[in-house]
Amino acid sequence: MTTTEFEQFYINGDWQPPKSNNRITVVSPNTEQVIGSVPDGAEGDVDAAVAAARAAFADPSGWSRWSGDKRAAVMERLADELDKRAPEMVQAISSQNGMPVAVAEKLEAVFPQLLLRYYAGLARENAFEETRPGLLGGSTLVTSAPIGVVGAIVPWNFPQALAAFKYAPGLAAGCTFVIKPSPETVFDSYLFAEAVKAAGIPAGVINIVPGGRELGAYLVAHPGVDKVAFTGSTAAGRNIAEVCGRLLRPVTLELGGKSAAIILDDVDLDLAKIGEQLFAATLLNNGQVCYLGTRILAPRSRYQEVVDTFTGLAGSLNVGDALDATTQIGPMASSRQRDRVESYIAKGKGDGAKITIGGGRPADLDAGWFVEPTIFADVDNNYAIAQEEIFGPVLSLIPYDSDSEAIAIANASDYGLGGTVWTSDHDRGVAVARQIESGTVGINNYLPDPTAPFGGVKGSGLGRELGPEALLAYSVQKSIYL
Ligand code: NAD
Repeated sequence: MTTTEFEQFYINGDWQPPKSNNRITVVSPNTEQVIGSVPDGAEGDVDAAVAAARAAFADPSGWSRWSGDKRAAVMERLADELDKRAPEMVQAISSQNGMPVAVAEKLEAVFPQLLLRYYAGLARENAFEETRPGLLGGSTLVTSAPIGVVGAIVPWNFPQALAAFKYAPGLAAGCTFVIKPSPETVFDSYLFAEAVKAAGIPAGVINIVPGGRELGAYLVAHPGVDKVAFTGSTAAGRNIAEVCGRLLRPVTLELGGKSAAIILDDVDLDLAKIGEQLFAATLLNNGQVCYLGTRILAPRSRYQEVVDTFTGLAGSLNVGDALDATTQIGPMASSRQRDRVESYIAKGKGDGAKITIGGGRPADLDAGWFVEPTIFADVDNNYAIAQEEIFGPVLSLIPYDSDSEAIAIANASDYGLGGTVWTSDHDRGVAVARQIESGTVGINNYLPDPTAPFGGVKGSGLGRELGPEALLAYSVQKSIYL
């Protein structure tokens, strides 16, 4: 079998030899076979990448000083180059992290371009300064300058989209970037680098060094970095927040979740009508999405019907190789991740929750890190499976007696990232959504919208990505009193 091998890093607009001989080996979650390797970033590689990003940022006629129009044109060229590589990108991602190709085609191969074009539009419209009349007479010129060099750290579950959540608004604002992909998803970062080069993004504006958590920690604390943008686990986010707190370094943290899907008692539970939306909001990407509603809150008056609906949904899913177009649930991204999911299934059983379907490994798949879609009924919200992020295709069904109790259960969580409300009454759904302690909520569906801020409260993070609001996270304001 041929493997994918890369030998260099994309730094300062070109391919540079790595500083160490260490390599990251990529193993397919579908087959458990080695599918290639890339150099493992060393501190010296990050030093070179940060130096390139600093020089590009400081260039008096460079990216950070360009007009919004000029940056927008290059960002759109990057979107075009990514369009050309979309099929390759899908293959690269699904072969590394087990994301079903049907999901990768809709999200990973589309979202970065959508965001680049959206933020290119905002870069064009944005004057980056305004003069305001003062309350005490006179006026003030308020300028908005790019914040500087951004250290962007991304996880493996949506490696391209989550990188774009950072660089799209950051590039629009005029920042330069050092991106550190996860060791699980590296090949796609080379396709991205090729697109960056082909688009003519100036040297040093985007630099990419894959590596593990130590390298990420090194980047976070690097003296040449002005801002950190992180997506990943809450535990890592807390470490990063501590370091950034000490350094007084601006940081955006998009962390874990344990969102509630509140099924109201007037819902139409016909899977033919809502199955697709229910799947997308609770089990997408093999359950490895931060915002999924993995606690299903079910009205006791219709509890058995809700159990039957989710059991039916889980039982209807095609589980298999992520590269098969008909697959809906692929493998877990790593064997470590499968161990984690299986340990939670054991905890759920131990606590007394009842498995209605799944709970094991699919009998017909003898290789790959697969876990059957699993539904737990009779879950108490205090159980570990209801409080902790599992990050796999495992849902917990929790009964409630009134809307106010459902809201209280939804909010009895250390997290607050997503959530959904399922109802036949739009206004009732919105009224419930308003009371959920969370950064985002969907009514009868969940689809993050690039034009609206996305992020969490409580243990789910700090700050917001997406929407015009994200530009603020990559800008620094100055008031010049006139
Ligand atoms: P992780 O925290 O282990 O790793 C994420 C990234 O951070 C990787 O690139 C890793 O190398 C790096 N890293 C880890 N520890 C670090 C540290 N101390 N300093 C600097 N870098 C560090 O998370 P993961 O397992 O790769 O990803 C899954 C997690 O990401 C889940 O908790 C999920 O909820 C979360 N996530 C959140 C969002 C969101 O938008 N809120 C989106 C996707 C995933």
